[in-house]
Amino acid sequence: MLVCPVRGCGLPLTRTGCRVACERAHSFDVARSGYINLLQPQDRRSTTPGDPAEAVAARRRLHERGVTRPLLDAIAAFLAPDSRDVVLDAGCGDGFYLGSLEQSTGFSAHGVDISVRAVNAAAKRYPRCQWIVANADRLIPYESGSFSIILSITGRMNAAEFRRVARPGGRLLAAVPAPDDLKELRSRTEEQGRDRAPSTIETFAPHWSLIGRRRAAAIADLDAAAVQDVLLSIYRPFRREPVHAMRLTFSLDLLLFA
Ligand SMILES: [Zn+2]
Repeated sequence: MLVCPVRGCGLPLTRTGCRVACERAHSFDVARSGYINLLQPQDRRSTTPGDPAEAVAARRRLHERGVTRPLLDAIAAFLAPDSRDVVLDAGCGDGFYLGSLEQSTGFSAHGVDISVRAVNAAAKRYPRCQWIVANADRLIPYESGSFSIILSITGRMNAAEFRRVARPGGRLLAAVPAPDDLKELRSRTEEQGRDRAPSTIETFAPHWSLIGRRRAAAIADLDAAAVQDVLLSIYRPFRREPVHAMRLTFSLDLLLFA
């Protein structure tokens, strides 16, 4: 299902040992942990694109504590995937949502993210899934019509590419932070966050129609270390006041498209 990411190529990639290559002899190493880096030099936004290591580690710790489990359960219940599905997670990060859903359903799972660190962490934790480093904003390195489900969980939103790699009848689940997400961390002047649902629906409108929506929330009593992890994971680690134990709201708007 993988295609060559070299500009103007796009031929199928086949695996031989610890390499994948196309017929034009463009070849890519399979990393020790099992992921494949298909990121092209022109796709990099910086020399180490994507999440910083501290953010990846902080998010993993929060997932392992079970903080995000209610969000995962809500996504699973809303989407109801089964073992015949072929699923792409675009912007998979450390692989928590895709890897966990694969463990409970046994579907064929493929995760793409621009961060080598995040994808390496995903590959180590969830070795049964296929993990790819690529810039999904430019190209999703899969053949057209590959997937029955596409996930974009606070991730990338490439409406045209999602449509291209979706099977006929395929579904797209986009999850965006809801207005009350982490409301306890906002200043008094901005208690309500932005409602991202309307602009998300508009972004996908040329290629996808909304067929359902639901809000998923988790309220967690966190100790100071976990609150620090939340701040690291959202790139706000430099608050002057000391971090203390807090009750925090995690909230996602789930938008399902066909
Ligand atoms: Zn090629």
